[in-house]
Amino acid sequence: MTTVKVFDGHNDFLLRLLRDPANRETTFLTDTGQGHLDLPRMRQGGFAGGFFAIYISSPAPAPETDLMAQMNNPPYALPLPEEVPLSEAQPVALAMAGHLKWMERASDGQFKICRTSAELRHCLDHDIIAAIMHIEGAEAIGPDLDALYLFHDMGLRSLGPVWSRPTAFGHGVPFAFPASPDSGPGLTAAGKDLLRLCNRMGILFDLSHLNEAGFNDVAALSDAPLVATHSNAHAIAPSSRNLTDRQLGMIRDSDGMVGVNFATGFLNADGRKTSDQGFDAVLRHLDHLITQLGEDRVGFGSDFDGAEVPAKLKDAARLPALCDALRAHGYDETLLAKICHENWLAVLERTWRN
Ligand code: ZN
Repeated sequence: MTTVKVFDGHNDFLLRLLRDPANRETTFLTDTGQGHLDLPRMRQGGFAGGFFAIYISSPAPAPETDLMAQMNNPPYALPLPEEVPLSEAQPVALAMAGHLKWMERASDGQFKICRTSAELRHCLDHDIIAAIMHIEGAEAIGPDLDALYLFHDMGLRSLGPVWSRPTAFGHGVPFAFPASPDSGPGLTAAGKDLLRLCNRMGILFDLSHLNEAGFNDVAALSDAPLVATHSNAHAIAPSSRNLTDRQLGMIRDSDGMVGVNFATGFLNADGRKTSDQGFDAVLRHLDHLITQLGEDRVGFGSDFDGAEVPAKLKDAARLPALCDALRAHGYDETLLAKICHENWLAVLERTWRN
């Protein structure tokens, strides 16, 4: 079977570079067997590109690390870390944007930060890995929003106002299982201003990590398709991070899109993070999302290098095995191409309008 090109809705590879900048060349350019992504394994697996997240960790000792460990034992309802101030977040965000720019230079033409749909299509047609600069949690942008113009100039084309921790712009979902995403207030006034400006500038406004009130605020105000870059179906796995059928209906009606998250804690029906299972849970979510959204509004949002993924999907090099599992499940090549990259390209074209 031919390898299908996979364009992906979310990864945290930049966090690996941030944590070990001295070894970034080895981390990016060689197959170290560590983590999920690097240039050789992207090439091997047909990873054609995706959203590269700029994400600010909470100060050490990173509380989210402990919280993630607790997610091994559902039911759980974890508190969220404190807000991170602008003065701490902005230098980190700049460093991560710099790492992405470095990747482009170090790749010798094999990796490019894309700013338009035409650039994305050109990269996919010419086997250049296409990166979208994405911010996950807008702590690095002040209430005057001026920094958004600067990040846009650097190449930013996608932004989530919150990672689950609260920001000046809104409230995310606390990690809880089983739990509803309806967990508190939505966007702040500044968050609504940020949404309007993202709409005007053609920056995708990501719904993953927003709670239900924030989701509703975006749905009411946005003039762009509703997109959750890395979330799953609440009907299959009732995690607070997953989307209810009501939310999926709103995404469908906006001609938006959902990227299926490979994080086992959001895939598994029992909420467990065990990674000893194969592709069955991914298939269950895909089937449900296709039923709710149609074939044109579903893709992948791997969470590679940011989450524990199914053992069979060990890293980007294993993406062809996932594609084979979709074929064995009855998906034809047309549907496979839509899920693997066509739907992402189309929704970005509808969102960026260029
Ligand atoms: Zn995330």
